[in-house]
Amino acid sequence: NEFEDYFLKRELLMGIYEKGFEKPSPIQEESIPIALTGSDILARAKNGTGKTAAFCIPVLEKIDPDINIIQAVILVPTRELALQTSQVCKELGKHLKVQVMVTTGGTSLKDDIMRLYQPVHLLVGTPGRILDLTKKGICVLKDCSVLVMDEADKLLSPEFQPSVEQLISFLSPNRQILMYSATFPVTVKDFKDRHLRRPYVINL
Ligand code: AMP
Repeated sequence: NEFEDYFLKRELLMGIYEKGFEKPSPIQEESIPIALTGSDILARAKNGTGKTAAFCIPVLEKIDPDINIIQAVILVPTRELALQTSQVCKELGKHLKVQVMVTTGGTSLKDDIMRLYQPVHLLVGTPGRILDLTKKGICVLKDCSVLVMDEADKLLSPEFQPSVEQLISFLSPNRQILMYSATFPVTVKDFKDRHLRRPYVINL
């Protein structure tokens, strides 16, 4: 397979090649075409397999930068991972006009509120802070149609699970969920059964 096979926007393809990616990795080969069809995904994937681009590429493809609303959220368990993931989105989307915002606990809420007055298409962050901003009505997720859960096993640990469950209820009813997890504990299976719709399961 080649990245050209996915009929991505030319600007996105440029970002992919400028990052030095020549061919899709196995997880990307499985994820990208399925995610582009709008199907939910549950993927077992370790770090180092290219899983970040496996969900960032379809997310960037789906966002319409001419519409100034949050169209996708990438949930991660730590600030460090949020920063890394947003960096990948910014690099891959270098030639797209997609505005990426990072928001996590441990930083100024006021700064996040100010940032949300500017256009944001893609939000990358941790569950607690995103829920906080959403409940305050500052972050509007009703038109958010893609939710990515990276390290889903960690996102469904007791620390985060209640926030994740609440966040889901704010999303567009037509939302697509892309879940990536190194392990499939019962919390992940249970979440899948309750929230994913006929998910495509990837087990590499
Ligand atoms: P990840 O599993 O997302 O942490 O990615 C692991 C490493 O693989 C990162 O340094 C990526 O930049 C790199 N990578 C991801 N996809 C590709 C690809 N298709 N070709 C070459 N390198 C890649």
